[in-house]
Amino acid sequence: MMNQSNPQDLQRESKEESDIELFGIDEVRSLVQGSDHLGNEQKVVTRFPPEPNGYLHIGHAKSICLNFGIAQANNGDCHLRFDDTNPVTEDIKYISSIVEDLAWLGFGSGKPKHFTSDYFDQLYEWAEYLIKNGDAYVDDLSPDEIREYRGTLETVGKESPYRERGINENLELFRKMREGEFEQGSKVLRAKIDMEAGNLNLRDPIIYRIINVDHPRTKNSWRIYPTYDFAHGQSDAIEGITHSLCTLEFEDHRPLYDWLLDHLPVSIRPKQIEFSRLNMTHTVLSKRNLKYLVDEGLVSGWDDPRMPTLSGLRRRGIPADAIKTFCVGLGVTKANSTVEMAAFDACVREYLNENAQRRMAVIDPLKIILENFEEGRIEQLEVENSPKSESFGTRNLTFSREIYIDREDFMEDPPKKFFRLSPGKEVRLRYAYLIRCKEVVKDTEGKIIELRCTYDPETKGGSAPDGRKVKGILHWVSSHDAINAEIRFYSKLFNTEQPGKSAELIDDLNRESILVHKNCKLEPSLLKFGCEETVQFERLGYFCKDTDSSQINPIFNRTIELRDTWSKLNPSNIS
Ligand code: ATP
Ligand code: MG
Repeated sequence: MMNQSNPQDLQRESKEESDIELFGIDEVRSLVQGSDHLGNEQKVVTRFPPEPNGYLHIGHAKSICLNFGIAQANNGDCHLRFDDTNPVTEDIKYISSIVEDLAWLGFGSGKPKHFTSDYFDQLYEWAEYLIKNGDAYVDDLSPDEIREYRGTLETVGKESPYRERGINENLELFRKMREGEFEQGSKVLRAKIDMEAGNLNLRDPIIYRIINVDHPRTKNSWRIYPTYDFAHGQSDAIEGITHSLCTLEFEDHRPLYDWLLDHLPVSIRPKQIEFSRLNMTHTVLSKRNLKYLVDEGLVSGWDDPRMPTLSGLRRRGIPADAIKTFCVGLGVTKANSTVEMAAFDACVREYLNENAQRRMAVIDPLKIILENFEEGRIEQLEVENSPKSESFGTRNLTFSREIYIDREDFMEDPPKKFFRLSPGKEVRLRYAYLIRCKEVVKDTEGKIIELRCTYDPETKGGSAPDGRKVKGILHWVSSHDAINAEIRFYSKLFNTEQPGKSAELIDDLNRESILVHKNCKLEPSLLKFGCEETVQFERLGYFCKDTDSSQINPIFNRTIELRDTWSKLNPSNIS
């Protein structure tokens, strides 16, 4: 888990907003139905309203980029509002994770946080206002009866026998509900709209229910809590939100959103605008499912590097800016669709290709002795940290008689097109020299334990003065200063494109989504890298230090492969 006091978190707090161009009002305007409701002088105010019942995932990032982006691009404001109206599932720990994830993306730091629970008094007062105007009533029907009375899309609803209660009786009962005088589930407050409405949301929706549970913030002050529908639009009005962006499932709730604002003494009219939610293949983007994975121990926690949560992606080494670039690329539309995980990966890869430094590491070390390199001699090679820009600087690599290459890069009996190392063949060691394999040393069981090679001192930097062509280039590390590390390789958490669709979620789980290599060898400069400083291991992929690392036991996560091997193996996954 993230350590609150580590210097990187502090850095995160002061992180400047990045220069990625986010959304402007034009994108939103195309979603607004009818004429633009916003006067020229009015400041744009949006909100991001997570319910603190889980960690944020990449779908939330889309909403964050949209809401904060619109505010930023229009010199407006975006409120982080915790939509904390259901104390049964909510927890303070989720609040801190949400704040941290948001700050990591570069939003919300140093700004006030808003809570729906801060408006409980006002919301209660408005509920009484509705009762006093004959627009709400206390209903004694059981939850099952309420469902039955509501009717269906094909049949109209039936009015509750309690619908015509007098105002005073309603007020008295509602006040008793607040005092905790009734059992949970025995009464609710409903808006009195129209049981025959075509839109089910308008068939006298519940606006308050009894929940005999303490709230993380208001403790035992309340025994009744407002429903999402009642709390949301009213909180928008209280905060002066101009554009209330939500996902498409709420399109049918918009008439109710507007009805409530019409029937309450609010001075501002926020506008609800719907956009499509982000769905992605090979993962689940629902807090309920993610919580299930955590609770069942199917992953190591919300920040497991295989999770689509922001904390999981961060821990795996995906940079915040890559996520933002991806979200902006998605655009804002009303068309529901599922994005290929491969598209996200491609975006991350493209970002890291430009922005990650390069280093060398060996996963499965095979020792090489360079017979003609003097014992005890250490040569310093100055090498660039990235070919992409000189601004990444250079570092010194040490070269010595004993080095490691990856076992995969040697074959004793190679097929024709194998350009890596084999007996008698020559390869180039990246940044260093050409070497030739002279002898293969095996243990008693026939396992190769060492290669004896020679290096050509005339080929420093890797090119031969006589112009001879050597095709293979290998990464390597010098044995005398290499550091030992564990490297964790991840693949997709689920085997199917839409996990849980045609089987139980658990049956779609990829049981081989982690592969751990111990005893890997890294060049020593990698010790200086912090978590989240993703780096390319040459020829191997992108990696970053895991939060489980210690000084004596560094652990690296593979963030992503250099190329998309998944789609190659599974051609049907290419869109
Ligand atoms: P979940 O289904 O994961 O529990 P939710 O919508 O219940 O999601 P909230 O905490 O209520 O989660 O979400 C906060 C905001 O993020 C809402 O405005 C919601 O519309 C938006 N959001 C959630 N999931 C997505 C998604 N997959 N794509 C885009 N926006 C999303
Ligand atoms: Mg929600």
